Amino acid sequence: MPDRDVPLGLEEIRLYDTRTRSVRPLEPLEPGKVGIYTCGPTVYAPQTLGNMRSQLVPDLLRRVLIAAGYDVTFVTNITDVGHLVDDSDDGDDKMEKAAAATGESAADIAARYTEQWADDRRRLGCLEPDIRPKAADHIAEQIAMVETLEAKGHTYVIDDGVYFDTASFPAYADFAGLRLDDLEATGRVDSIEAKRHPADFALWKLTPPGVKRQQEWDSPWGRGFPGWHIECSAMATKYLGERFDIHTGGIDHVRVHHTNEVAQSECALDVHPWVGHWVHTEFLDLGGEKISKSKGHVLTVDTLVDEGIDPLAFRYFSLQGHYRQNQAFSIDAVRAAGTALRRLRLIAHQARAAGGAADPDRWEGARRAFWSALADDLNAPAAVAALWEATRDPDLTPADLWALLEEADTVLAVDLGAAPDADQTGSDARIDALVAERAAARAAKDFATSDRIRDELAAEGIEVVDTPTGATWRRR
Ligand code: AMP
Ligand code: ZN
Repeated sequence: MPDRDVPLGLEEIRLYDTRTRSVRPLEPLEPGKVGIYTCGPTVYAPQTLGNMRSQLVPDLLRRVLIAAGYDVTFVTNITDVGHLVDDSDDGDDKMEKAAAATGESAADIAARYTEQWADDRRRLGCLEPDIRPKAADHIAEQIAMVETLEAKGHTYVIDDGVYFDTASFPAYADFAGLRLDDLEATGRVDSIEAKRHPADFALWKLTPPGVKRQQEWDSPWGRGFPGWHIECSAMATKYLGERFDIHTGGIDHVRVHHTNEVAQSECALDVHPWVGHWVHTEFLDLGGEKISKSKGHVLTVDTLVDEGIDPLAFRYFSLQGHYRQNQAFSIDAVRAAGTALRRLRLIAHQARAAGGAADPDRWEGARRAFWSALADDLNAPAAVAALWEATRDPDLTPADLWALLEEADTVLAVDLGAAPDADQTGSDARIDALVAERAAARAAKDFATSDRIRDELAAEGIEVVDTPTGATWRRR
């Protein structure tokens, strides 16, 4: 038995690991502790709901691990330099390109979209990251890792920059099961002709002579900026150690970004495997088409709010799909999820209001069904189904049901304790007046006053919700 205080059904957590292509028990390097690194946003634009799915999945995983009694360190990075527009070694940096297009500085753009992403995460009920490192703040660590790779003979220098020599790491293709003779299939076609092999990738890009970039630094090889992949290796190692338990990201990262992270890290650190479990989230799509910024899809948390949808309805919607399957997005589907969520909240409210004492022996079966679904490769749809089944179980008292729902909400985080009218505008004249006063202060750019009012209301458990037609409020 684990020496942790563990809910029934959560004694052993099994997760699919991309590297070994198998569902394996989680066996942390240090008993009782888990380190998770999640590839975060490139902050040149708002994050789509697709990007947010890749944050919701690790948030659920993190919450389940906390419920299982682990001491979890959750790191997710901010990519504010080095991510090129087409994920290969060609073309411009996404941040520089956005700066050139808008006339703003790359730093201002990064600050704005980092804040927006953090706010979107909060609105979707994600716990704050324990550590949220920015790539541009870790240039020295990245240079140091490239120097180590160079000293160990894994690099070469060409006019364009310092490259990782994939031939120096015979296991390079193993992680993703790549066939390196079929580069079209791996997406590794770029125009850097001096590369020794098309799969080789940039560790440090040199600024061409005569060019001045907003984001560039001196390095042993000359002025330039880090390749995108090295940031995650350097920051994960700095904050989680030379080996760690779980690395997550979107499924699109397997063949290039994560393959390159593994190569750099295992070569620089002399470790294998670098990461215990690789957890990849499948895509949120629009009936077969991927939601992506580059195709001009701008479905964001704000889109939901504009549609009058509670962002937590999207979290509930996400829980209805298994993370290893594509999920088809539509506004209607999220609206329907919102309706189901409101019903569940109403049931929870009535169960709580009925009072009485729960009997652990009576709700043990439902509890085990809920947690064992999550322990089985994070099967959220089955866990949610177990809750609905419990709502129909005549043997459970309202108190038993409330105990179950309250415990379940520590990981589902869809606010099952909310008052049943939580998504409706209330009719409290005093609160209405304060919300109107805050809106006026905001319009007058008096943010000190508007923030003060928002904080006062928050202290009363009231959340102000901004919509395009004005502000409204709800009880948490
Ligand atoms: P990016 O800013 O493009 O690096 O993306 C940030 C994260 O979102 C990465 O882990 C991507 O794999 C992930 N991602 C991008 N689009 C989607 C999508 N439609 N569904 C799920 N995850 C996505
Ligand atoms: Zn990454």
